[in-house]
Amino acid sequence: MGPGRHFCKEDKSVNICVVGTGYVGLVTGVCFAEFGLNVAAIDNDKTKIDLLKKGEVPIYEPGLKEKIAANVAADRLIFTTNIKKGVANSLVVFIAVGTPQGKDGRADLSYIDEVAKSIGENMNGYKVIVTKSTVPVGTGERIKKIVEEHQKEKVNFDVVSNPEFLREGAAIEDFMRPDRVVIGASSSQAIAIMKDLYRPLYLRDTPFVITSIKNAEMIKYASNAFLATKISFINEVANICERVGADVQMVATGMGLDDRIGPYFLHAGPGYGGSCFPKDTEAFVRIADEHGYSFEIVKSAINVNNRRIEDVMKKIARDLGAVEGKTIGFLGLAFKPDTDDIREAPSIKIIKKLLKQGAKIKAFDPSAMENTRKELPKITYCKDAYEVADGADALVICTEWTLFRNLDLGKIKKALKVPVLIDLKNIYDKEKMNQLGIKYTGIGR
Ligand code: NAD
Repeated sequence: MGPGRHFCKEDKSVNICVVGTGYVGLVTGVCFAEFGLNVAAIDNDKTKIDLLKKGEVPIYEPGLKEKIAANVAADRLIFTTNIKKGVANSLVVFIAVGTPQGKDGRADLSYIDEVAKSIGENMNGYKVIVTKSTVPVGTGERIKKIVEEHQKEKVNFDVVSNPEFLREGAAIEDFMRPDRVVIGASSSQAIAIMKDLYRPLYLRDTPFVITSIKNAEMIKYASNAFLATKISFINEVANICERVGADVQMVATGMGLDDRIGPYFLHAGPGYGGSCFPKDTEAFVRIADEHGYSFEIVKSAINVNNRRIEDVMKKIARDLGAVEGKTIGFLGLAFKPDTDDIREAPSIKIIKKLLKQGAKIKAFDPSAMENTRKELPKITYCKDAYEVADGADALVICTEWTLFRNLDLGKIKKALKVPVLIDLKNIYDKEKMNQLGIKYTGIGR
């Protein structure tokens, strides 16, 4: 399958289409185009597709805008709401729609089902249908059944599980240089086609895990649940450090130097958030429950994470007393740096609690203010950290954006009404803060 096939816009034959242009679908589509493939990126959200057609990008992800522009200019990437043509013109159809948490904690597969139905209805020849979305074990079989039920004519197809491990904020780099590519499939033809798509990575010696669909589906949940558990583990260690007078930063450094443990995901903080860990841990517990197994470790990781917001509220109460009528400044709203994503962000949960208790909130985030405004329209949004600090009774660092790591602390102290800094990301040093006359509270120190 080589690049450079003829076509004019939506009618052209593409190598692949990606259904869903969110954080995963957009990055997947752009990166495959970057590999030289012809890609149709499809979404049923017309506003999103119209924006993308105009060269604007609905999400913030470093490097994404430039790569989209370059691949659209090279005529390798198109955006469309037309799933019918997208499917008909592609050999490989990636499903990258959301799998949000359903009411009972299980993954809501309604978007997946809808896409599977459309694929079945619009199939005009052999296709490889690939799930990039995070889906429970058994979803591959479910997709197969739905597609078969909706096919107008019986044509052969294969289903592949190809879970995505990218991190928001480093998504392009993660896609282009992944630790591994997991391909779950039972058909040798589908495996060969997948390897062909990922050829540039294959040539670069990226490890490929070729396995069954069920194994691939499990690998994704097990990986996310493990990382979430690591975060909850270090957050509990932080709580113990506070009680015994140790510093979790040093403890984590000492632990992380052990190759068997590693330094990643050992940063104590306000708990994990984002669109993946909270829903994927819940879904994994439900998958185990449905198969008669109680997944105790992950249940505990979830409980610890849920308690984290209360732990933070206690810190704020200890430093500020009653917050009613007080102004609290927030630096960082996104669930992590380098993204505008606020789904399940600890900042939003903490701010909502503080608002309920009568606090006034000022905030600044380099990318996430537009998204936050939709959820918290009544807080004051500022142009920078200094405007946030101006007249505030305390400053809370909630996201470790690089530009918060080197603040002019003299200026911050002067601007604050009361010099209190609650550093939920441990980016500053307590001694230095105390020398500056700033009352400092970190996590686990
Ligand atoms: P998202 O919510 O940002 O994007 C999903 C997109 O799918 C939306 O643009 C939506 O309009 C579109 N969509 C929904 N139904 C559709 C339909 N019927 N037809 C066409 N488009 C449709 O989601 P995301 O964060 O990109 O996550 C997608 C999947 O990937 C989820 O399963 C998630 O768990 C998984 N995942 C996410 C990340 C991450 O960091 N965000 C990382 C790895 C895996």
